[in-house]
Amino acid sequence: MRKVSIFGATGSIGQNTVDLIRRAPSAYDVVALSGGSNIAQLAHDAIDLNADVAITAFPDRLDDLRAALAGSDVEAAAGDTALVEAASRPADWVMSAIIGAAGLNPGMTALAQGSTLALANKESLVCAGKLLLATAQEHSARILPVDSEHSAVFQGLVGEDMAAVERIIITASGGAFRDWPLADLTKATVAQASTHPNWDMGQRITIDSASMFNKAMEVIETREFFGVDPDQIEVLVHPESLVHAIVGFNDGALMAHVGAPDMRHAIGYALHWPDRKSLPVERLDLAKIGQLNFRAPEEARYPALRLARDVMARGGLMGAVFNAAKERALDHFIAGHIGFLDMADIVAATMGTLDREPGLIDAAMTLDTVAHVDHLARRATDARVAQHIG
Ligand code: NDP
Ligand code: MG
Repeated sequence: MRKVSIFGATGSIGQNTVDLIRRAPSAYDVVALSGGSNIAQLAHDAIDLNADVAITAFPDRLDDLRAALAGSDVEAAAGDTALVEAASRPADWVMSAIIGAAGLNPGMTALAQGSTLALANKESLVCAGKLLLATAQEHSARILPVDSEHSAVFQGLVGEDMAAVERIIITASGGAFRDWPLADLTKATVAQASTHPNWDMGQRITIDSASMFNKAMEVIETREFFGVDPDQIEVLVHPESLVHAIVGFNDGALMAHVGAPDMRHAIGYALHWPDRKSLPVERLDLAKIGQLNFRAPEEARYPALRLARDVMARGGLMGAVFNAAKERALDHFIAGHIGFLDMADIVAATMGTLDREPGLIDAAMTLDTVAHVDHLARRATDARVAQHIG
């Protein structure tokens, strides 16, 4: 039996992972499941999958979790330290599907004890890619991509020589506002930004798809994962979300990965890697689909894409600044403090402010410096928003 843990089990990626594990219960020994405020789901799945421990990220929910687990053998725990402790328990395969920078520490811990890390939490790579990759290397641990585009690229590279790769094209649906008149974007509401044309995902990543902050993160993720130069990475708007990524080789060949927009594809590939096993996803009928469309992303509609280029050009700890500023700007948009297009302006301003702090961005990357820069970036973003409102 393979020992597995799922961090962020109650979320959109987490529930898809639980679904795959539940279909083959005799193949897996579940070590840890983590969640946040959805205690009922966490307790239900932990009991159902007979996990050793269930952890809520929020200490003030520990009593609720204990009550929900009463009468079962599942241990209850809470808080950041408990998450890291659970990640240090031996496991063969660990799903990293916490949302945001909070996913970094558990992921690093799992790698440090040699687990294979299935990485949905792209924020870890954006904040601290070099650190994560170095930790994996040091402990001979593997990181497998779960983001659909990166899983698609990873699959396209099987048996290939990276030296023959000319370009990597990741696709984007274009999000909720891809066909809106540009002038209307300033008025876009949270509810409008929270509906995705093709994918059923958590609210935050859905809004990040409308703004393409998600794609901006994925461009940086592509650079970190595959070690290609920024100018080898392209973004292509593809409204159908059926082609997930394309790898371009030096003989002009383009290898595209095509599949239904169902995250169980990428999660299942990472779960069974290096094998392929049957997955409960739709089989596409391309004759019925008839046509696939592609277009270049408009810069004015998606300013976040340019910010990703700035982050890669600057390097150092700028990824951690970008991620933290983006998370806070999103909080403020959801809270109604700022408009949809203000998010990119505010993130750009935070990047500029912190870049002017002598030595900050070029400090050596450690968990402490990443956390420090993350904290400063959130504070600078809040200050900028306060100015904006005032
Ligand atoms: P969700 O918001 O649906 O789920 C997030 C998970 O993290 C939940 O289990 C949540 O608990 C938990 N959580 C929330 N806050 C914290 C915290 N402070 N500390 C620890 N755990 C916390 O997110 P998604 O599943 O959509 O996304 C998860 C990750 O996967 C993200 O990094 C995202 O970018 C990435 N991803 C997601 C895709 C998707 O299809 N959804 C596609 C590709 C990548 P609870 O809900 O109980 O509060
Ligand atoms: Mg993606």
